[in-house]
Amino acid sequence: MKNSLSQRDQRHLWHPLTQHKNSAPPIGIVQAKGAVLYDEQGKEYLDGIASWYTAMYGHCNATITSKVAAQMLKLDQIVFTGFTHEPAVELSEKLMAILPENQQKMFFNDNGSTAVEAAIKMALQFHHNKGEKKDTLIAFENGFHGDTFGAMSVSGLSVYNGPFEDFFLKVVRIPAPQKENSAKVLAVLQQLISENDCAAFVYEPLVQGAAGMKFHSSEGLEALLKLCKENNVLTIADEVMTGFGKTGKHFASEYMETAPDIMCLSKALTAGMMAMSITSCTQEVFNAFLDDDISKGFFHAHTYSANPLACAAAIAGIDLLTSKAIQNDSVRINEQHLQFTEKIKVHSKISEVRVLGVILAIDLDVKMERYGDLRNRLFNHFMERGVYLRPLGNTIYILPPFVTSNKQLESIYTAIKEVLEII
Ligand SMILES: *Cc1c(COP(=O)(O)O)cnc(C)c1O
Repeated sequence: MKNSLSQRDQRHLWHPLTQHKNSAPPIGIVQAKGAVLYDEQGKEYLDGIASWYTAMYGHCNATITSKVAAQMLKLDQIVFTGFTHEPAVELSEKLMAILPENQQKMFFNDNGSTAVEAAIKMALQFHHNKGEKKDTLIAFENGFHGDTFGAMSVSGLSVYNGPFEDFFLKVVRIPAPQKENSAKVLAVLQQLISENDCAAFVYEPLVQGAAGMKFHSSEGLEALLKLCKENNVLTIADEVMTGFGKTGKHFASEYMETAPDIMCLSKALTAGMMAMSITSCTQEVFNAFLDDDISKGFFHAHTYSANPLACAAAIAGIDLLTSKAIQNDSVRINEQHLQFTEKIKVHSKISEVRVLGVILAIDLDVKMERYGDLRNRLFNHFMERGVYLRPLGNTIYILPPFVTSNKQLESIYTAIKEVLEII
């Protein structure tokens, strides 16, 4: 018999976020459809996190696969310097129609990290081109913005950053504002802006994903954004996770009145089909790069910029996002989450439950001494029950594809209730 994928994998593959010395071999997945993953033993798993918030319209969605397949037969890849093509142009029109109105230009990258990287470089060069010297970035504590150097510098989660901290850009940090401490955080920001030459503020709007799906106050964030605007500090909304309907609006930035100067989009942008990201910006940011001096342009490029297949996937994704069916699914899932929340929030092992859009997060109230490998035990319990969730520390969260049925949601909720009883 042929060795399993899981066995063959071990010979040459190096997986992300994995300590290969002691982690379990990976599970071989052979197929995915809708909200379900199928492994090589024939076991099914409900994809409770839409494969890291990408496959929001379901895996192998027929609308998306057919659009990408058609594009594949027409134009596969061309250089995006000096050339343009229909999928890129159509995507720019469709995306601009749903982004906050001040967004006018978009730049292509390959993934979330490089979208943030490009945003940071845009912001730094924006000031440089205007003859201003600004060398400091502002970011939230515990933020996550990706794993390239600029993105890592603004991220605040030390497990990822440890060995590299000596090589980072200059960053100052503020806590994410909660209702109670908004005024204090605003004062800290004011102080930092007066003491440093701040170029930009990079933030995950309303939800800090990797930090454990932590929410913060929209009024608090609004005040921070206003202060940045008043002080010529560009605002960079990292909507890589929150974008494309997860928070109940197309973009989390819509919960604030002050729109960001720059936005980073990826993950659900291409509906789980291809790797691509976009850094969008205002006309004002773009205009700062216009000059007879060629070096004032943005000399930054990725080989696969605006790959036509990825653009085709993104166009199909936006069509689905704005369809009545998906809009209804989004409301339905939010309602299911809220009902489930009502039932379990009094559970003795739960310290907090949060819901925003299709995001549901549950913080477990566990004593530190019992913490141990809690995260791994939770993960294994869920997998045994055929539910793919990736708890973050003591936080269990669900961010299911919009197409997840009520019955499938019920299975996920049941697995959570069962796991609460045995941990
Ligand atoms: C996932 C994520 C990134 C990094 O995206 P990659 O595609 O993994 O490089 C950046 N910012 C946020 C908020 C993310 O959730």
